[in-house]
Amino acid sequence: MSILDIIEIGHPTLRRTALEVPLSEISTPEVQQFIDDLIETKRHANGAGIAANQVDDTRRIFVAEALHNPRYPFRPEYPLTVMINPVITYLTEERFGNFEGCLSIPNLRAIVPRCPVIRVQGVDRNGNALDFDVKGVCAGIFQHEADHLNGILFTDLIEDPTTLCTAGEFDRRYVGQFEAGIVEVEARYSGA
Ligand code: ZN
Repeated sequence: MSILDIIEIGHPTLRRTALEVPLSEISTPEVQQFIDDLIETKRHANGAGIAANQVDDTRRIFVAEALHNPRYPFRPEYPLTVMINPVITYLTEERFGNFEGCLSIPNLRAIVPRCPVIRVQGVDRNGNALDFDVKGVCAGIFQHEADHLNGILFTDLIEDPTTLCTAGEFDRRYVGQFEAGIVEVEARYSGA
């Protein structure tokens, strides 16, 4: 496995719409290697997800995985999930404010609206169909990564620019607000 270079905002590939992966290609060593590298790169960078665009590749593939983070122990974990050709459907009109960051936008965070109950469909790395719901704040990870495949960055979605902050200011001032928001969203939706 190898760690891939993560491109940053301003790089044109982050604005490209990624292309469907033909099902016949999923089992090829090249695609399997790419998925392994995406996982390795995500873990190395301590992200909750990574999409192919972020390593300058335009295939519709992303990886989501929220590991325990001692800095934010209240944040729910989510197991490693590889999504190929994902389709996301919003299952409620409701939205919650999600504090997000992005490996391609270093050091910045902001609140963006996300749907708290979604249906995720696609294909896994073995070519098997996936169809499941994600509820609560982890739904934000899937929306964030799926947006990457459509050339959309979380900064495009900010409704209140005054929520923009650096990682340092986030840790200094907004962790309490972040935790309270997560607790509320999880209580409201994750068991729903
Ligand atoms: Zn991102």
